[in-house]
Amino acid sequence: MGTIYMDNNATTRVSQDVLDAMQPFHHVLYGNPSSIHTFGSQVAEKIEVAREQVAALLGVHSKEILFSSGGTESDNTAIRSALEISPEKRHIVTSTVEHPAIRSLYRYFSKRGYRVTEVPVNGGGELDMTYYKESLTSDTAVVSLMWANNETGVLFPVEKAALLAHERGIPFHTDAVQAVGKIPIDLKNSPVDMLSLSGHKLHGPKGVGVLFIRRGTRFRPTTLGGHQEMGRRAGTENTPAIIGFGKACELASQEMDKKNSRIKQLRDKLERGILATVPNTRINGGNSPRLPNTTNISFEYVEGEGILLLLDELGICASSGSACTSGSLEPSHVLLAMGVPAATAQGAVRFSLSKYNNKEDIDYVIEKIPGIILKLRDMSPLWPYGGENISRAA
Ligand code: PLP
Repeated sequence: MGTIYMDNNATTRVSQDVLDAMQPFHHVLYGNPSSIHTFGSQVAEKIEVAREQVAALLGVHSKEILFSSGGTESDNTAIRSALEISPEKRHIVTSTVEHPAIRSLYRYFSKRGYRVTEVPVNGGGELDMTYYKESLTSDTAVVSLMWANNETGVLFPVEKAALLAHERGIPFHTDAVQAVGKIPIDLKNSPVDMLSLSGHKLHGPKGVGVLFIRRGTRFRPTTLGGHQEMGRRAGTENTPAIIGFGKACELASQEMDKKNSRIKQLRDKLERGILATVPNTRINGGNSPRLPNTTNISFEYVEGEGILLLLDELGICASSGSACTSGSLEPSHVLLAMGVPAATAQGAVRFSLSKYNNKEDIDYVIEKIPGIILKLRDMSPLWPYGGENISRAA
């Protein structure tokens, strides 16, 4: 068996059609899109085609699409712009389970005098809507809530949350990096003002993203220089990546329904297979509305990193919810926010699938996981049942 890649929320394989679309823009159509000559301006035209492809996936107008270097930059741009627009407002609303691209930003602003409300989630990872509603005030400069959680796949009711913000005149941003391409998103009649997405999460290239900015939303650029991107983001465009991103969005539109129902079947089979063979195991966020491709499984009495290393020896790529901070293994902030005990959070593994996974991949992982967990529990001083028979535990 070669590599079995189940870490698609980290990044995805670039589709062949995307690669083919990008190729000429490195060495044939390499002109600068800002140049006055035909050689450059024909590239500018292709960027507009890519902009339309992204806009079509979201159901919006191409002028509302701003290309960036990725999800992180789009998140930063949206929040910084909103804060700059209303300097008198000193309150930000977000959630406890956001990606570091948003969390770090809020930490930064809270050190600079902003009040930050992190809306909690319940045990299933779902947003506390009552708390959210009560947190919106006349001093709130911006709300930012993720559409889909990168660790658990749990979805937030973003449209509902955006409507509540709108009723109070508060701009609403969503980090939809994990959602776009995996669930249908139609922003045409949506109250969402700004939305971030990233090329490499939907079989496009790395280092390219988009910030959707609804027409009429007040915006301040954060990068100054040339007049690129209609004066909203200076710097020569990453043309090949933009072309590839456009193609990836076109493919995502075409493949969405069929692809995602197949991926969901594979994900569900994986969960059933693991739950049936490994006791003391739970799916984090498993009963909540969530992405079709993601499962986050806690194996009690073992460390996620240990599982990942043994999976890696077998060529299986997954990831844990925990981040390695200065040498110590921190449990995932997402799982802790959901009330998962620290020890259980530490035993979490995320499998995230894509269109390139198949039934054989799933069967192989289901076959290998029980042995891996048995081995690790055998070595664990915390495992209360004795190592020789994992099926003895409840
Ligand atoms: N937001 C979420 C929810 C993500 O999962 C990621 C990447 O993992 C990002 C933002 C950052 O995107 P990028 O890698 O394009 O900067």
